[in-house]
Amino acid sequence: MKIDEIVSNIKTAAITGHIKPDGDCVGSVLALYNYLERNYPELSVDLYLEEPSGKYGFLKNFDRIDSSYGKECVYDVLFCLDCSTKERLGAARKYFDTAKHTVCLDHHVSNEGYAGENYIYGELSSACEVLYNHLDPKKLDLDIATCLYAGIVSDTGVFRYSCTSPATMRIAADLMEYGIRTNEVVDETFFTKDWNENRILGYAVLNSHLLFDGRVIYSYITDEKMKEFQVTSRELDGIVSQLRLTRGVICAVFLYETGPWEYKVSLRSDDPFDVNEVAAVFGGGGHVRAAGCNVRGELADCIEAITAQIGSRL
Ligand code: 5GP
Ligand code: MN
Repeated sequence: MKIDEIVSNIKTAAITGHIKPDGDCVGSVLALYNYLERNYPELSVDLYLEEPSGKYGFLKNFDRIDSSYGKECVYDVLFCLDCSTKERLGAARKYFDTAKHTVCLDHHVSNEGYAGENYIYGELSSACEVLYNHLDPKKLDLDIATCLYAGIVSDTGVFRYSCTSPATMRIAADLMEYGIRTNEVVDETFFTKDWNENRILGYAVLNSHLLFDGRVIYSYITDEKMKEFQVTSRELDGIVSQLRLTRGVICAVFLYETGPWEYKVSLRSDDPFDVNEVAAVFGGGGHVRAAGCNVRGELADCIEAITAQIGSRL
């Protein structure tokens, strides 16, 4: 019930998450926003996040997300959810630097505790699970439960990944009691793709390569291909997970171009291979099974550098 204590004596709060927000990030910030709106109507709360995928548009108060960061305000408290470093706050960094108090709730093993008050549980499935543990269960409703459930579904790959624990399932069960239309949430946030999103997934799989006797797979999408398929980086989300599902593969690598000679890298692995370690070599981080980083250089050199790091750890 920590959140209730933190907001008991303040007038203004803001909530934010990491750049390129995923389902857990969007779910957790909206769950907290809706929790505060429902239980602390006198509190002024703002919500900042880079523009999320429209597939989360059904979550309550999705339209309150401010992606312009235009407001200048010194907040009593800034909540940072699912965000492992200050740098990954992106444009919300200015609110972090000026806020009177900062609170971080996260589940990234690489998070070193950059906020004033830190609740970091690397063993938990999602920021939504961490947040749930800090809310008063008597103060939830269907909308809050739906946001939390959507986030847990997203970061557990619909309860498949090894971060899914018995406690995760108990929380999901408690949330279901509010009457969530779970099949719709799962389909809408996880499985349903736009046609172009599905096509570029197919393209990336078709053009993937195996290395190290089929234990490593990689693929990439150039800026040109993203234009051809009319997608943005938001539509590339599921590609690396699909690559990982190749039989025999223990580590999947996916890169996409973010600028001239600049690539975003996503890494996924099977037990016991640690991709957080690999991402850290390139200044990134994340989790043991899912991590990411940014690299610069010619595409072939970037692929060579990353796969060499992976190869040396096999
Ligand atoms: P994704 O591959 O889906 O972008 O990210 C996988 C995980 O790694 C997420 O938990 C994400 O927060 C983390 N991650 C991705 N890119 C970076 C990065 O550049 N730096 C750090 N510290 N974490 C990252
Ligand atoms: Mn997360």
